[in-house]
Amino acid sequence: MLDKAWVHLCRVDFAYESGARCFVEVVSAKLAVNGKIICSCTGCRNLERHTCNEVVSHLVIHGMDEAYKICTDWFHHGDYVGLVEGQDRVWNAEILGLYEDAKWSDEDLPCKGSNLCEAAEGEDRKEDEFLVKLAEAEMPLYPTCVNHSKLSATVTLFRIKTQNGWSDKSFDDLLETLSKMLPKDNVLHTSTYDVKKFLKSFDMGYQKIHACVNDCCLFRKKLKKVDTCPKCKSSRWKTNMHTGEVKKGVPHKVLRYFPIISRLKRMFRSEKVDVDLRWHFNNKSTDGKLRHPVDSVTWKSMNDKYPSFIAEQRNLRLGLSTDGFNPFNMKNS
Ligand SMILES: [Zn+2]
Ligand SMILES: [Zn+2]
Repeated sequence: MLDKAWVHLCRVDFAYESGARCFVEVVSAKLAVNGKIICSCTGCRNLERHTCNEVVSHLVIHGMDEAYKICTDWFHHGDYVGLVEGQDRVWNAEILGLYEDAKWSDEDLPCKGSNLCEAAEGEDRKEDEFLVKLAEAEMPLYPTCVNHSKLSATVTLFRIKTQNGWSDKSFDDLLETLSKMLPKDNVLHTSTYDVKKFLKSFDMGYQKIHACVNDCCLFRKKLKKVDTCPKCKSSRWKTNMHTGEVKKGVPHKVLRYFPIISRLKRMFRSEKVDVDLRWHFNNKSTDGKLRHPVDSVTWKSMNDKYPSFIAEQRNLRLGLSTDGFNPFNMKNS
């Protein structure tokens, strides 16, 4: 772990400079690219690379970026707190946590009217089914396995698959081989389809909704059973190029919808993620500087408009980022 005490010293103090030099040397030994390392001075803000000497003088002249200074992890410089066995493990633990925390059930919501009660009962039933699945997920990978449960093994493997862009076919092959290599009575899934189905039961899956080939409508609700688009009359189904026959059941276009409410609920159940989700409630800047959307005028105008909404710590706002968005290829950004 990097020594961070020096950043809080006065910058004219000699100890500050020697601390900075020490820091730069440790970092450059591990992370230098062409002899340059990421500079965290207030000017470069971890966006630019400079030589060791330049970084030291930037730090002495400008000081370190305030936000980075108080970070417990200087992650731009390879310093992760609690990261003993590599970043992968931390990542895995985080993803796993999200699934595991799903076991905490919802708070009892006050019932208003019978419809809501019925809905809540339905939810409860779903919750019970879910708990059964969770118990299954916590089974050891094979009877004497101590390192992995069915869930942790599945999540770990699936993560490697997605990160490295493995095809479903290659993952199928791997799963089949692995389950043969593992001791008898192992509970590893043997196909990508099974893995996806299993993970989907944690509300982390998505819905497929057929769409009009010209994007006029989605075939859901009232249009769930229709075969042609009511607006442009094009067929919902693909046609065979050679025979011209309509292939019913094979849609032209599919929208993959990731239901957000169930995801947010699961996220709030995770002790660690929950803290991050509520971060904006207590961390508005007090020095008048804009560091996060929470410090913006737009955020404040929302607060003024919906006071009861912002009184709840767990209020969430969804943002749309358009950085690098270039709809008409007008600029080479
Ligand atoms: Zn700099
Ligand atoms: Zn249409």
